[in-house]
Amino acid sequence: MTDKNILVTGGFGFIGSTLVEQLLAEPGNRVHVVDNLSTSPIDVTAFLEVVGNPPNLSYDICSIAEYCTREGDKGKAFREIYHLASPVGPVGVLAYAGKMTEMICGDAYHVINLGLKHDAKVLDISTSEVYGGGRDGYCSEDYSKIIPAKVTVRLEYAVAKLAAEISLVNTTRVTPLRACIIRPFNVAGPRQSPKGGFVLPRFIGQALRNEPLTVYSDGSMVRAFTHVQDIVQGLILTMERGTNGEAYNLGNPANKVTILELAQRVVKIAESQSRIDHVDPKTLFGPLFEEANDKYPDAKRSTEELGWQPRSDVDQVIRDTLHYIRDGRKA
Ligand code: UDP
Repeated sequence: MTDKNILVTGGFGFIGSTLVEQLLAEPGNRVHVVDNLSTSPIDVTAFLEVVGNPPNLSYDICSIAEYCTREGDKGKAFREIYHLASPVGPVGVLAYAGKMTEMICGDAYHVINLGLKHDAKVLDISTSEVYGGGRDGYCSEDYSKIIPAKVTVRLEYAVAKLAAEISLVNTTRVTPLRACIIRPFNVAGPRQSPKGGFVLPRFIGQALRNEPLTVYSDGSMVRAFTHVQDIVQGLILTMERGTNGEAYNLGNPANKVTILELAQRVVKIAESQSRIDHVDPKTLFGPLFEEANDKYPDAKRSTEELGWQPRSDVDQVIRDTLHYIRDGRKA
């Protein structure tokens, strides 16, 4: 096993910190995190303790742009770059309305340049939102993307992510850059923060406080919740085996549920006294809030081509997240 330097942007985020933990466990890996902590759900000191302050972990708390300026010639030779840094969440993105295209595409260009400079393989973490709902929620990598007429903040996020994807893929065609795109579907699990608006930590927090669960509209929205540990396995496999310039869905189609069903399962598993309320999210988060289309993945490309096997069912995702939140963990 040869030593390997790996850069993880957003490595103190929900998915990023879980990935970093996995990467550190592999002998020979040296991990460098660049994170400006703008959406980080963890206490970094607590996280460093959880991973045992290992000598093979280093970090810069700054934006990717700042990191690229600072890096100068002292840069390590990275062999792999996982690019996860991004605004996130249906509520989280609202604060960046009008600025997200520049943020997401600007960071993507920096990452492209780093990938070229270091001759590193780049994994770009995009979003399942690029499908615009696919065909009645079913999203295959082979389908056309759909851009709806209505301009929303969510659309800005999705279109910026798509533009970043396209820049990366085209760069792999005209330069030596090696890159793959990941489109995750409703990642959930320990460390996800309710702050971005994500449904599972919100429902679990409400259930633990015996408050009503806030199901939006009639709760018939369809999602496929996928355990963060499964997603991280998929990221590592894609880095190892993914075809250059290809996009991969990472999401567990077996975990397809409606949001009302999710709420009912949370109440049951948490043994909560909470009732379920149907509410209008715009009354909670303002007029900019928008519901996404139904979405669940065709995961054939990642299961057949990469050998990815998501393991956790919805109840397992709920249980693991519940334990994390109930224990009041900081990382
Ligand atoms: N949702 C809900 N109540 C909440 C938070 C979210 O009913 O308190 C719904 C939301 O409208 C969406 C689904 O849960 O249909 C998943 O929401 P999340 O924000 O986690 O992911 P996304 O909408 O980006 O798929």
